[in-house]
Amino acid sequence: MYGADKAGMRARFWIGLTAVLLIAAGAVAAALIVHADDNADFHAMQTEEASRAARQAEAVAALSVGQLGSATAFIQADGDLTAHEYEIVGGSLLREGILTANAFVDRIDRAERAGYERRHGFEIVERGPDGGLRRAAERPMYYPLTYVAADTDPSRALGYDLGSDPDRSPYLIRARETGKTVATPVTKLVLGGDGINVYRAVYRDGAATATAAQRRAALIGFVAGSFQVDDLASSAISALPDTSEVQLKIERKAVVGSNLDLDDAATAPIQIADRTWLLVVRDPDRPDVSLPLLLAVVGIALAALLGSLIFAWSHKERMDELQREANEDPLTGLKNRRRFDEDLRTAMARARRDRTTGAMLMLDLDHFKLVNDTYGHPIGDRLIVEIADVLRRRTRESDSLGRFGGDEFAVVLPRCSREEALLTAEAIARAIREHVPEHEDAEPITACVGVAMFGADPRQGSASVASQADAAMYAAKDAGRDGVRIFDPEAVREDHSS
Ligand code: GH3
Ligand code: MG
Repeated sequence: MYGADKAGMRARFWIGLTAVLLIAAGAVAAALIVHADDNADFHAMQTEEASRAARQAEAVAALSVGQLGSATAFIQADGDLTAHEYEIVGGSLLREGILTANAFVDRIDRAERAGYERRHGFEIVERGPDGGLRRAAERPMYYPLTYVAADTDPSRALGYDLGSDPDRSPYLIRARETGKTVATPVTKLVLGGDGINVYRAVYRDGAATATAAQRRAALIGFVAGSFQVDDLASSAISALPDTSEVQLKIERKAVVGSNLDLDDAATAPIQIADRTWLLVVRDPDRPDVSLPLLLAVVGIALAALLGSLIFAWSHKERMDELQREANEDPLTGLKNRRRFDEDLRTAMARARRDRTTGAMLMLDLDHFKLVNDTYGHPIGDRLIVEIADVLRRRTRESDSLGRFGGDEFAVVLPRCSREEALLTAEAIARAIREHVPEHEDAEPITACVGVAMFGADPRQGSASVASQADAAMYAAKDAGRDGVRIFDPEAVREDHSS
């Protein structure tokens, strides 16, 4: 019974502790999930922002690349246009900003060039070794000429020979060879600022352009467009939250923004002609960790509170258990000898104060060894428990019941006379005699009861009362067992026989 109690106590403790750990782990897991969820949402949003910005930048570039189409048609028609028609169409394209570019002057001599310049109203220039523009040296062949229209003074328009520029000519050649629109890296634009040029070769109308050789033969010119890197960046940035960190990179080198790697940034490609740029965006508006943190802290605090309550409960249970162990007989739950002695002393003190008498009964089962020997120790134990229940039924709440080990029991009857004590002792002896053991084979058993009174002599100690009850009990044994004897100070004499 006590073992089971202890096991239950231990089980409750471990279940409680497991629950506490689960609560704590659950809170931490919930916090991590919420945080991971927030992070995933944030990253999806940041990626969406980056690709939206990249598309916007691409749109700016696409405008420039798209304009090359109009310019291509213009160049293809060049040979068929009169000077007047050329001025009208070319001038309007230039004014509209569609043409920052374009004429192809192929193998012209000095006289022809002068006429060309006069006809188109510009001067052919090239970039000198100092980086500045100068009148182009005479060459047998010119690459496309970029018109740079002067808003204020049309007579100051320039034709820039792209082919004279070592930074540009390789891309022109690539455009001619591939037939595709080609973008340069970031270079100094003739119009000023840093930017990208896009080139497209123009082939004779209707000519075959399937192979590189055919394309070379069909080439009549180029169209070139350009846009400022700053325009590209600002169109991308306009699609982003103000606080974003932005980098525009090509081949891991930033053209806009710092070159440092940004932690946790989103990237999106920007395709411009045959070149891919990388837009790196970092939104500093990262998810707040305070909610998940709060979740975890509350969960852990709750678990800690529960944990300490469980420890306190289990400590109290253990203390109660120890107290019971210190006072009780483990087999029957009756008081042990130590606790019974305390009760006896208390009853004697009360009797002295109230000038009343009380009694102690000492009880020993007859031939109990036989029960053990015949039916075994466990049946003997069971019978001891049954006798304890008989004693409980035959006594009052205020009486104190004890088991001294073996088959020895004791009872304190406070506030009772000698006659009442004897009647109670008799009733107990009879009840034991009449008790039918639960085990079907076991025979009914008898007991000897010794009675000792206290309270009449205020100097008497508890040990003396106990030994008197013991002596009376042994007198009953001597008289043939199954009997009740009361201790007589003069002589232990038979008061009652059964
Ligand atoms: P008597 O009439 O003289 O009292 O004879 P008895 O056989 O009852 O002998 P005694 O009281 O001297 O010894 C009690 C026996 O009870 C001794 C032991 O075998 C047995 N006993 C002691 N403690 C326990 C116990 O906890 N459980 C069981 N089953 N038997 C016990
Ligand atoms: Mg006995």
